[in-house]
Amino acid sequence: MTSSEDLYAISADWLRSLEVASSTGDSKSFVSHFLSDGWFRDLLCLSWDFRTLSGSEKIHGFLSEVIDGKPRLEHSGLRDFKIDDHTANAPSPFTLPGPQDIEGVQGAFTFTIAKPAALGRGFFRLTQDANGKWKALTLFTNMQDLVGHEESFADQHGLYEGREITWEEDVDTKFRAIEADPTVLIVGGGQSGLTSAARLRRLGIRALVIDKNARVGDSWRQRYPTLKLHTPTYQSSIPIRMYLPLFNDIIYLSDARTNFPNYIPKGKLANFIDSYAMNQELCIWHSTSLVSTPVYNSSSARWTVEVQRGDRKVIVNPKYLVLATGSGSPYTPTWNGMDEFQGALYHSDFHKDAEQFRGKRVVVVGAGNAGADICQDFVAHGATEVTMVQRSATCVITSTTAEKTHFKLPLPDSAPIEEVDFHNNSMPLALLLQLHIAGWTQHMKMLDKEFHDGLRKAGFNLTWELSPGSGEVGLDGFLFTRQASGTMIDIGCGKLIIEGKVKIKQGQEISHFDKDGIMFKDGSKLSADVIVLATGNEPIMKTARTLLGNEITDRLLPQEVMGLDSEGELNQTYRPSGHPGLWFASGAFLFSRFFSKHLGLQILARELGVA
Ligand SMILES: Cc1cc2nc3c(=O)[nH]c(=O)nc-3n(C[C@H](O)[C@H](O)[C@H](O)COP(=O)(O)OP(=O)(O)OC[C@H]3O[C@@H](n4cnc5c(N)ncnc54)[C@H](O)[C@@H]3O)c2cc1C
Repeated sequence: MTSSEDLYAISADWLRSLEVASSTGDSKSFVSHFLSDGWFRDLLCLSWDFRTLSGSEKIHGFLSEVIDGKPRLEHSGLRDFKIDDHTANAPSPFTLPGPQDIEGVQGAFTFTIAKPAALGRGFFRLTQDANGKWKALTLFTNMQDLVGHEESFADQHGLYEGREITWEEDVDTKFRAIEADPTVLIVGGGQSGLTSAARLRRLGIRALVIDKNARVGDSWRQRYPTLKLHTPTYQSSIPIRMYLPLFNDIIYLSDARTNFPNYIPKGKLANFIDSYAMNQELCIWHSTSLVSTPVYNSSSARWTVEVQRGDRKVIVNPKYLVLATGSGSPYTPTWNGMDEFQGALYHSDFHKDAEQFRGKRVVVVGAGNAGADICQDFVAHGATEVTMVQRSATCVITSTTAEKTHFKLPLPDSAPIEEVDFHNNSMPLALLLQLHIAGWTQHMKMLDKEFHDGLRKAGFNLTWELSPGSGEVGLDGFLFTRQASGTMIDIGCGKLIIEGKVKIKQGQEISHFDKDGIMFKDGSKLSADVIVLATGNEPIMKTARTLLGNEITDRLLPQEVMGLDSEGELNQTYRPSGHPGLWFASGAFLFSRFFSKHLGLQILARELGVA
């Protein structure tokens, strides 16, 4: 199985046979195309939700559920399967390394959906079973567009083809229509809110964004000065290739010509996001916040939302409310004696100027990315003593190893970011975590062995498990279930810890503060002039409760926004929240880039009355 003809033939045979099963609604035959422990991930093609099923029984159960009097598979009517051989995801060999490598053929295909009338795209990973038959280890089906309402890449602007208005007038007219009657109100104009607004606009839906800040990108600008992303540039791009072809290569391929470094500083990122909002002509009310709890009227299926826009109060009545307010307000634990402490004490979100503490003793409570960045900043600015307090253990990976593993492009460099995202999302997250446990994490640990040994020697505690004995899920486990809390993608602090320039106070609970430091439960003390609490952010659900009140929040699904549900799909975000007309958009760049489209499709489908 080496030539491209063979790869194509294997894929085509399997796909042809799968199509027969699908078009005849034969769920049993459909399931027989999988390994008995194979995986099926479906995003919006067979249900209006995100589903991952593993094993023949569960897949069969899902396909056979009765919808409008027909089994789901027959009801949805997936047909016209065609190998997608003109893209970077055309049939190719794959290997999933592990104790026993899994090898096979992978590739993308397109298809149509009958109900609702839609276009889909799928991805398979086939391997040979014990009888040498090609079966799916994974199958991914993803709704691409609703027929007749495809995402538009064309903008009809200006003085041409009989149009007689200027670009400014055109944009202004569109903005006035949105402001008068927004179909969707997005609260929060960070990258999650903006990408959602851009998708909705391209799908022909009026979306108004409000943000409490004065300028797009301010949430990044307000973070600590030395912050640069810990994820490489390609991971951090937003959907620009399709919307901003001119900027495509600038952010996707960082190199000297583009002046986008591989790890983007926060100010540059803020400006980029700002330019994105302008270029996408997104309708945004700056310096605008919710005044009171929004009210949902079930009979009109509309919200009443009162907002403060500058010095005016305005009532908005959208059908859909999208909460894109970011990762929650700073989480500040309280200890006795905090108000007696006579030095500077603040949360890492408010870290601004390490220089003013030159020559001082600093304690940073928290051993994640923010804690590491801030320790590094204090060392660089001449603090006499910098100590990091680590309560439990941290999942640490060097950025070099992360680039070779987690952030490695699965396709050639020239592949569009959309192809990369599609490829990455074709992998069920629960399987990904299983593969980590089965050996991938071990491999990453090997690559960082010397570094980890150095950290341990310095007293730093490492982990790759979410809880003791639950399996080494590594960075991805923390990224997908805890929004990366408890991780350190090292970009320099590790070396300082190993060299003793950042000291570690490990494994002791804080007992209380006194006037010049922190007392621990073992009776030890750290004296300090400055204490920074790098203790993370409140859960998104807590922010939701503050903004929306108990009545609405109590109707939401019980899980925390983000994190994984029992099937391994991201909780609530970009998918039904449990409350009609209420959606969440959240998470790192790779989530908003991909799932903003799904949010748009679900809202569009409701507008069209097909969901
Ligand atoms: C220190 C730090 C480092 C990070 N590094 C990375 C990284 O390397 N890579 C990565 O992918 N992610 C990183 N993240 C995560 C990053 O925050 C998220 O990826 C991203 O900011 C989430 O985008 P967002 O749009 O959901 O939220 P945000 O960017 O936080 O935007 C939320 C917006 O909502 C507005 N808002 C909030 N509440 C209200 C309200 N009540 N009314 C009106 N507007 C409101 C805010 O003003 C803000 O503009 C980092 C986060 C932090 C804090």
